[in-house]
Amino acid sequence: MLEAAPTEVQESKRPPTKLLPGSPVIDVDAAERAAAALLTAFGVPEGSEAAVRTPARMVAGLAELLTASPWEFTTFPNWEDQHELVLVRDVPFTSVCAHHVLPFSGTAQIGVLPGEKIAGLSKLARVVEMFAARMQIQEELGQQIAAFLEQELDCRGVAVMLSAEHVCMTRRGVRAYGSGTITIATRGRLRDDHTARSEFFQLVRPAAGRTA
Ligand SMILES: [Zn+2]
Repeated sequence: MLEAAPTEVQESKRPPTKLLPGSPVIDVDAAERAAAALLTAFGVPEGSEAAVRTPARMVAGLAELLTASPWEFTTFPNWEDQHELVLVRDVPFTSVCAHHVLPFSGTAQIGVLPGEKIAGLSKLARVVEMFAARMQIQEELGQQIAAFLEQELDCRGVAVMLSAEHVCMTRRGVRAYGSGTITIATRGRLRDDHTARSEFFQLVRPAAGRTA
């Protein structure tokens, strides 16, 4: 059993939350001071409404993207000997790109080849939400989800396909409007067994053409 709240906001009003190893901690006061300095550097007039109130809004908005609700990863014994692929499709997510601190969002396709344990289906979506609430790049997000599921379920295979649109690529830089990025992370038989892989990719194929 595992309690998961990946981000702790250091604020006296909130009770401390149990964290996953490696989870970020948000220092709200320091973040607001830094946001105020950033706005000043961008020429926002001192004493204006934006200079006074926007730092708190900036930090609250970013902290919200980087905070997942507490939940519990529950598993059940695989009494019915379910060994066929379990696929949860089109799980929506929004995360924050660690290179540009801009959001990227899309959908996740999660495939699991069960072993001795199975997870509640909603828990697979919760795992996506939990890891999406971190600053990272898309490749890392997929690998984190796959590694977590492999470890917690001790399953025979995991495949995670993420399809997302990145604001840092569609609205700035190359401005490739409408472009999508697909990343794949696989473990166990969904990495090594051609037949198992083919089944997963055939079932998720329609998702490959869209980002959200
Ligand atoms: Zn980026």
